[in-house]
Formats: sequence, C-alpha cells, structure tokens
Amino acid sequence: MIPFTNSPLDRAAEKRKDEAWLRARLDDPSTVVIAMRDGKPLVRDAALARLAADSARNAESPLFLGLSEGDVAFFAIETDAELGTFEDFRSVALTLPPHDAAIAAAARSLFEWHRRHGFCSVCGQASRIAAAGWQRVCPACGAEHFPRVDPVVIMLPLFGGRCLLGRQFAWPKGRMSALAGFVEPGETIEEACAREVKEEAGLIATRVTYFGSQPWPFPSSLMIGLFAEVASADAVADGTELEEVRWLTREEARAVLDGTHAEVLAPSTLGISRHLIEAWALGS
Ligand SMILES: [Zn+2]
Repeated sequence: MIPFTNSPLDRAAEKRKDEAWLRARLDDPSTVVIAMRDGKPLVRDAALARLAADSARNAESPLFLGLSEGDVAFFAIETDAELGTFEDFRSVALTLPPHDAAIAAAARSLFEWHRRHGFCSVCGQASRIAAAGWQRVCPACGAEHFPRVDPVVIMLPLFGGRCLLGRQFAWPKGRMSALAGFVEPGETIEEACAREVKEEAGLIATRVTYFGSQPWPFPSSLMIGLFAEVASADAVADGTELEEVRWLTREEARAVLDGTHAEVLAPSTLGISRHLIEAWALGS
C-alpha cells in the first residue's frame, strides 16, 4: 500500500461546525486524541499514542479528524506537555501501522497550515481557527480560508519497453527516481506532466495515464502518479533540476528495486515514485 493513503477515518465534515456535538465528543471517554509537536507525532509502542479525551478538552484548538469504526471520534492536538517521545514523522512513517500514518498525515498537514497561515491573506489581520480545524476565518473582513493542498505530478517516462529515471543534484550517489514537479495555475494534470517531462528531460509526452495519488504531509502536497509515454528515447538532463537521466529496461528496474543493480539506488518506499516504478517493472 502507498504510505499515507487509506485513512480509516470517516471525516464526518458535516460535524465540524456542530459545537455541541464536538463538545460532547470531548466528554466521551471513548474519544481518541493523538498529539503532535512541531510536526512530530507522539509515538508509543511503534504506533500513534492514543490519549484520553480530556487531553483535548483543555487544548487550545483540537482538530477533529473524523470517526473511526464504531463512531469513535479522533482528535489531534499540538502540545508542549511531556507526554513521551515525539518522533520525526518522515523517519517513523514506515514503521507506524499504515492507518496511523494516514491519520497523522492529515493532522500534520493541518497543523502546518495553521502554523503558516495565521494572518488573513486578504486583509492581513490575524485570523482564527474555525470548523474544528478545517478553516480559518478573518474576524476583520470575514474571509474564510481553507487548508491548501499543493498538487505535484510524479511521472515515469516510458519508451520502447524502457522507463526513464532522473537524479537530482542533492541526492545521495546512485539514487534515482521518477520525475516530478508542481502543477501550475491554469494547467491540467496532463499539461503539467508534459511540461515537466520536456523541461527536465527534453522529451515530448504523447500519452499520459493515471496511476494513483498520495497525500504527502511535508507539508501538504498531493502527489499524482502518472505514466508518460514519450515520442523518443532522446532524453537529456536539464542540468538545473536533474544531474542525470537514465533509461532502464524492466529487468534493470527490477534489479534497482531489489537492490542488486550495480549503479542505481531505488527511491524510498515512503514516496509514490517507488510504487510507480514497481507497478511498471513488475507489470507485463
Ligand atoms: Zn481579512
């Protein structure tokens, strides 16, 4: 499964403005609270620590994350209290139960958004949290602000039975991955994919197909995985974003994935690019 996907929670968005219902959930002993600090989740026994409802009752603005099976309400709080170990999320995301990683991803992105958007982007006044953490409202001009998600296209160029991987300058020696870039205003996903493939590797995309997507909570992107059939094998690294590009056969890609390729290291299983390469290399 792709990390951060398949959250077990029903977001129950219709409850976010129901103050009485939210208060009752914070008085309900079955309610679960998860805690974060500076983007790091509180972890116990290799899972998200589950705190009692009263830890959220006193929190400044608990986020309502949704309902799990049996209508158990999940909240997230940010806290300075000494409750245990707050772990770097990127480091522990693969060791947490997948459901916990998905729940923490939503909480992390929301907290980061609040941290970075304390002021109204319309009039500049301090805004306040609303809708149980899913909005900010400006008391001065009344503008409502919603958590942002930044779409990113991640694509695997394909030609003649081979796929293209690229290497960014900053990466460790040998590490290669799919190509990627932010979707710009006014672009479709397909257009963004075609532009990035051309910019980064000089290739013309002829057909773009969807693979899957992944919430990426660093801080709040949506990774859109794609296959991009291209018109030729004449790939050239742009020299600014990419240092090197390289075509791999399925056999070579499988060797990269199982760690036996002599020169190329696969991307981490944390990101969707690894899963994109796997889907192509292990497919037929
Ligand atoms: Zn305002």
